[in-house]
Amino acid sequence: MTTPLVEMDGDEMTRIIWKMIKDKLILPYVDLKTEYYDLGLENREKTQDQVTIDSAEATKKYGVAVKCATITPNAERVKEYNLTQMWKSPNGTIRAILDGTVFRTPIVVKGITPYIPTWTKPITIARHAYGDVYKNTEMVVADGSKAELVVTDKDGHETRQLIHTFSGSNGIIQGLHNIDKSISSFARACFNFALDKKQDIWFATKDTISKKYDHRFKDIFNEIFENEYKEKFDQAGITYFYTLIDDAVARVVRSEGGYIWACKNYDGDVMSDMVATAFGSLAMMTSVLVSPDGIYEYEAAHGTVQRHYYKYLKGETTSTNSVATLFAWTGALRKRGQLDGNAALADFADKLEQATIATIEDGIMTGDLAALSTLENKTKVDTETFLSEINVRLAKALA
Ligand code: NAP
Ligand code: MG
Repeated sequence: MTTPLVEMDGDEMTRIIWKMIKDKLILPYVDLKTEYYDLGLENREKTQDQVTIDSAEATKKYGVAVKCATITPNAERVKEYNLTQMWKSPNGTIRAILDGTVFRTPIVVKGITPYIPTWTKPITIARHAYGDVYKNTEMVVADGSKAELVVTDKDGHETRQLIHTFSGSNGIIQGLHNIDKSISSFARACFNFALDKKQDIWFATKDTISKKYDHRFKDIFNEIFENEYKEKFDQAGITYFYTLIDDAVARVVRSEGGYIWACKNYDGDVMSDMVATAFGSLAMMTSVLVSPDGIYEYEAAHGTVQRHYYKYLKGETTSTNSVATLFAWTGALRKRGQLDGNAALADFADKLEQATIATIEDGIMTGDLAALSTLENKTKVDTETFLSEINVRLAKALA
């Protein structure tokens, strides 16, 4: 490797898996060069969370990062780790610095059939991560009140619009906003990702009902597509497809998968859980944060698997699924290889992924998958044995 990969270490069981993956499956084969940031909660406390900011800045500098799952502290964690503050979610901090969009893709293997059996190819969900109902202002309104939307411009001029005159009943109101800048970043991240994956991209809103708000999303996507991406899409043989959200849902259910589905914030929140569940397991869901200028940060979609970690600490055998964390590594190594013209590195990433899928399809898997798999001959193995079995297949493929 020539350019370092930004390595963000994390917490609990995923931190244990992180080291196992590196020691068993990467270091023996790759001349690995990383710039290491320890985002484990203890070091975030020690550095007053500066390490998270530093790791995001390093990602901006080098372009590719791989991140381990991290604890987002709550009141319990503040006690458990003796924290001086309830540090913010590292993912939130990194996303804000990179202005990125999160893309989640399930790993599809034989034997684990999606609840929608026609979904033979993965569906990637891109969720807009700013505004709408997540930054709302809402009020309970008493009968007899009049609610208005008031906007004061920079010169002090007011524009008013009636929302509703409450007569005969109490009620509720809600104020939402979004900004062109964020919608544009989202659109560019989506179009770049589609080009990168050579997959079609779908986007949907309810613009027939929301003629200004949702229509703005549609217009911004359309304008950016026509001006900046249309030709590149034509060359790549992929399409941008816009439709109404309800039509999109109906088409997704009937589809075979194999495309990217860009969603507004709320739609993405709901649909990503639906898609993840339908594909089988959170432990098979990868996640990548992509900035509008093409910076990539790879991780697993799941958390630190705390319950397994406490078992591990007691010396008990665990059967934690390392696939999503492993695919975070392969995603990052492949991207680094592509950016640096290092075909051998990208090829290694492909082979490691193939060895992982082959292991599961040979019937060797962790407990979470054994519970789902329809293969006739399957063996549930522990965390470490699973990685060793991958290594057997990887070594063969590389020999
Ligand atoms: P979690 O770590 O995703 O685990 C929830 C449950 O899902 C586990 O107890 C386990 O079920 C199953 N599971 C998840 N990943 C698995 C894997 N790789 N292999 C096998 N089973 C797996 O979520 P959580 O327990 O709610 O959160 C734990 C910590 O993670 C929290 O402190 C949270 O802040 C953090 N978190 C971080 C991220 C991130 O960094 N991206 C995301 C989410 C949560 P069983 O126990 O039934 O086996
Ligand atoms: Mg959700």
